[in-house]
Amino acid sequence: MTNPKPQPGIMNIKPYVGGASSIDGVDNVIKLSSNENPFGPSPAAVEAFQRAGHDLHRYPNTDHAALRGAIGGVHNLDPDRIICGVGSDEIINFLCQCYSGPGTEVIYTEHGFSMYKISALAAGAEPIQVPERERMVDVDEILKAVTDKTSLVFVTNPGNPTATMVSQAELARLARSLPDNILLVIDGAYAEFVDGFDGGAELVERFDNVFMTRTFSKLYGLGGLRIGWGYGAQAVIDVLNRVRGPFNLSMAQMAAAQAALEDRDHVAHCLSENTRLRAWLAEALAALGIPSDTSCTNFILARFANAAEAKDCNEFLEKQGIIVRMVGGYGLPNCLRITVGDEASCRRVAHMIGKFKGGAPGSKLMLMDEDRLDEEGK
Ligand SMILES: *Cc1c(COP(=O)(O)O)cnc(C)c1O
Repeated sequence: MTNPKPQPGIMNIKPYVGGASSIDGVDNVIKLSSNENPFGPSPAAVEAFQRAGHDLHRYPNTDHAALRGAIGGVHNLDPDRIICGVGSDEIINFLCQCYSGPGTEVIYTEHGFSMYKISALAAGAEPIQVPERERMVDVDEILKAVTDKTSLVFVTNPGNPTATMVSQAELARLARSLPDNILLVIDGAYAEFVDGFDGGAELVERFDNVFMTRTFSKLYGLGGLRIGWGYGAQAVIDVLNRVRGPFNLSMAQMAAAQAALEDRDHVAHCLSENTRLRAWLAEALAALGIPSDTSCTNFILARFANAAEAKDCNEFLEKQGIIVRMVGGYGLPNCLRITVGDEASCRRVAHMIGKFKGGAPGSKLMLMDEDRLDEEGK
C-alpha cells in the first residue's frame, strides 16, 4: 500500500512562528512582537469594514478595481499593473508558484523574512540563503550566488528584523547586474516608514524584471484583515493573475483597505508618532548600553552583549507582561526586536529593560528628561 505523498520540498518547511500575543497568567500584556500599529487602523477603515457586513451574501468583485485605483492614486502608479492579495504573503506565494519550482533556486538574504523560504519550498524550489554584511543586504553576495538555476531574488527594504536599508544606488546596481530572466522582488512592507522612499517603484518602471510587494499590515494597522499588493511589469502581473483565486479578497478587506489608504491624516499621525517614539526608545536603550542600527521601520533591533543576555531579558520582560520578539531564528540570537508602541508602551519597555540591566531609580535612563519625549515630535 502506498500512502499519499506530498510534493518534494513540502516536508522541509518549518512552519512559520508568529510573534506571541499572550502570556499565561498575565491579563494586560503589552505586545511589541509583531510590528503592529499601536494606534490601530483608521476609524474610517473600521467603519467601512462594518458597513461591508450588510452585504455578506454578495460575492466580491474579482478585479479589485476600486482598491487598485486608490493605491495607484496615492502612490502614483499604474493601477493596471497592481495585483492585490491576502497579505503580501499571498503575493510572495504567487511569485514562487509562478516563477520557481523544481530545479530552480530562490535567493534570499541571511536575516530575510522567513516566508521567502517557506514559499520557495512549497513550490519545490531550492532556497538559497546568502550572507549579509553587518545586518545589511550585501548586493555582491547576492550576485555571487546567482547561477543558471536562479529564478527569483528576494530583498526586504527596509529589512525585517534588521530595520536597516540598502541604498537606492545599490538596489539599482543589483537590478542592473541581474540577468534579465531573474525576477528581483523588493519587499517594501516597511517602505511607508521611510520619508520619500518609493519602495522600489521607480526600479519597477525601469526594469521589467523588478517587482515590488507592499502591505496594509504595518503602517495601516490592518494585519488582522490580510491585505497586500504587488506592482510589476504588465507581463508579470498577467502571469500572477492566472493563479490568483478570483475571489481572493472579500468586500470587507477591499473596503477597509481603501478607506485606510484614503485617511491621510491618520497615516500622518501614525508616522510622526513612530518617528518621535522610535528616536526616544533607541536613545533610551543606547543609554543603557544596548545599541541598535538606526531604524528605518516601526521597530528597533536591540543588540545585547550575547545570546544569553538577550534571552534573559526576553524572559524578564515576559514576566512583566511585555512581549518582544526573539530573533535567533533569523540568525540574530543576541538581539531582541521591539516594535515601537505608543508612548506608554515605549516608556514601560525602556523602564523594564533598565530594571533588567540593574538600573535603579536615579540611573541614566531615569534621568532622561521626560519632557524631551514631548518635545521631540515638534
Ligand atoms: C510584515 C511583513 C510582510 C507583510 O506580510 P502580510 O502578509 O502583508 O501581513 C511582508 N514582508 C515582511 C518583511 C514583513 O515584515
